[in-house]
Amino acid sequence: MDDAGHVLQVRRLRKSFESDAAPVRALRRVDLTVGAGEFVALTGPSGCGKSTLLNLVAGLDVPSDGEIVLDGVPLADLDESARARLRRRAVGMVFQFFNLLDDLSALENVALAVAIAGAPRRAAELRARSLLDLLGLTARAAELPGVLSGGERQRLAIARALANDPTLLLADEPTGALDSAGGFEVLELLRRLHGAGQTILLVTHDDDVAAAAQRTVAMQDGRVLAEAPA
Ligand code: ADP
Ligand code: MG
Repeated sequence: MDDAGHVLQVRRLRKSFESDAAPVRALRRVDLTVGAGEFVALTGPSGCGKSTLLNLVAGLDVPSDGEIVLDGVPLADLDESARARLRRRAVGMVFQFFNLLDDLSALENVALAVAIAGAPRRAAELRARSLLDLLGLTARAAELPGVLSGGERQRLAIARALANDPTLLLADEPTGALDSAGGFEVLELLRRLHGAGQTILLVTHDDDVAAAAQRTVAMQDGRVLAEAPA
């Protein structure tokens, strides 16, 4: 967090993708601030630039122009390996299709992420068990992801995203592959994590999903349209 209490500051952000025809201007000038402890939903129709923005914030790609300050650190000051280190320390990310390792048990999926975040093996397993506990998955620890329900899989992916105790939890359409019960389960969980102090930036094209957040930021055609409390 920086002096102003902001976990994330995005200023005049632009991102274009080169293509054979004209470049695709995915982000045209985005400003966004997320304060410590906030739960913000970024909404807008498919193709408006939401995932592009999230990937830039996570340091997975670099902007064409503009500035991202994450956890007080301007990303532009970092080379690729320093960006990866900041990401491992400060960011947790959840995807629509879970991205779990199918050959590892629920516990191993989380323990691996804790180990990658720097914990020794024994400590990693203990922390993984406490994360499964927190997310109500203790009874599923030994199962492979393939036998879990959709909602359980996404809860597991969230447990993994929390492995490094991230400053900012990013979620890109986390309910997009779930039925309504599974989606509800995941949104309740995100609300509970927010209640416990977790800062969350959620991306969704679904206004009902966005309503779970504290504040909504609407995007269209690579721009932020308006901000409103949810
Ligand atoms: P959203 O997540 O809101 O659906 P995206 O951020 O995925 O939107 O995409 C925004 C625009 O950028 C779209 O026109 C998309 O086709 C384009 N785009 C996204 N990623 C790439 C890429 N890697 N190369 C070229 N175009 C891309
Ligand atoms: Mg997207």
